[in-house]
Amino acid sequence: MADSKRTKNRCSFCGRSEDEVGFLITGMNGYICDSCATQAYEITQEALGTQKNGATKLNLEELPKPQEIKSFLDQYVIGQDDAKRFLSVSVYNHYKRLLQKSSDDDVEIEKSNIIMVGSTGTGKTLLARTTAKLLHVPFTIVDATVLTEAGYVGEDIESILTRLLQVADYNVPEAEQGIVFIDEIDKIARKGDNPSITRDVSGEGVQQGLLKLLEGSVVNVPPQGGRKHPDQKMIPVNTKNILFICGGAFDGIEKKIAQRLNTHVVGYSAVRNTATIDKSNLMQYIAPQDLKSFGLIPEIIGRLPVLTYLNTLDRTALRAILTEPKNSIIKQYIKLFDMDNVKLTFEDSVFEYIVDKAIEYKLGARGLRSIVETIMMDAMFEIPSEHKDSFVVTLSYAQRQLEKANMARLQSA
Ligand code: ADP
Repeated sequence: MADSKRTKNRCSFCGRSEDEVGFLITGMNGYICDSCATQAYEITQEALGTQKNGATKLNLEELPKPQEIKSFLDQYVIGQDDAKRFLSVSVYNHYKRLLQKSSDDDVEIEKSNIIMVGSTGTGKTLLARTTAKLLHVPFTIVDATVLTEAGYVGEDIESILTRLLQVADYNVPEAEQGIVFIDEIDKIARKGDNPSITRDVSGEGVQQGLLKLLEGSVVNVPPQGGRKHPDQKMIPVNTKNILFICGGAFDGIEKKIAQRLNTHVVGYSAVRNTATIDKSNLMQYIAPQDLKSFGLIPEIIGRLPVLTYLNTLDRTALRAILTEPKNSIIKQYIKLFDMDNVKLTFEDSVFEYIVDKAIEYKLGARGLRSIVETIMMDAMFEIPSEHKDSFVVTLSYAQRQLEKANMARLQSA
């Protein structure tokens, strides 16, 4: 301020000199006067729709209700009803928590972070992405595999929040109400029971770091992500209201579930239980202690109170995925051809054939696209120059195309 008294400094916004205004704030290459600063603040507040407590302008009436969230998910994701219900309720409650007024009473709604367990390619990420389409809060997907303990090669745990800040345009109050999907959480499971063999920098150490984020605390976030370095300016972010959804394949967890179920199957009261256990889908019995046996630390499990699972996709589900979702693979190809004014149709038996191959190569839903892509490649290359107005994919055409292609490539996809 002493500076501004010595020379005739002017506000870089309104041009008034220092003696025409209350006071000037000095910046790197200019000044701003008190009234311009106040005005800028008001404009920012209006633009961000933030209220006094920094909460987004949410309105309970306008929010999608759990059933509406689920119906929306139904349009894009086949099956996985349990996961959809859990997700819909959690997201809805997340909004309600953001709307609660601190002065109401002593009841404070706490957040319920979610963990979704299911084999790869069953729709965990798809569920998260589809939910994001519907949301009014910042949402981001991050991968747990890149994270390591601070000081080791990889990304610091705080970088999870960098992405959230980026999607919120670095608006901290907005980001503080966001939702983060952490994929592949199973990859940071404790590697073994004996931590003394090697330092478990990408396992338990990361879990400890993650714990801080999940339970709600003020975290210093590197604005550009990656590793923290001393001269980088950090942005403090409070994670108290950030909803974390974790997903992981937890390969082999069925064994842990089976073991647990078996150990309980002792004594006569258990005989009844064995009869009702559906051995073909053990995932539905998943419980927090299975996550612990897999290598998640109990503190993390405690911070992910909503545990849900995704089913392995069977024939019927795979068949439905091909054509039913709003932006199903087949619909996408039909659209691609339509843009060249070519009407693309498939014989029904082609769909069965594609599903058979996906099952045969053990590719699941992820493989459907690569199989269709292989079948359609030649047609996509030739048709645009052929001036045809329709193209029918017959079973024999599909078989020929797939056999011609390099099967080994598909199998390793
Ligand atoms: P995950 O995250 O469980 O490994 P993804 O959600 O990435 O699996 O699924 C991979 C792809 O498979 C998706 O992009 C989607 O095309 C398809 N897919 C998987 N599961 C489903 C499902 N339940 N409904 C519709 N499509 C699905």
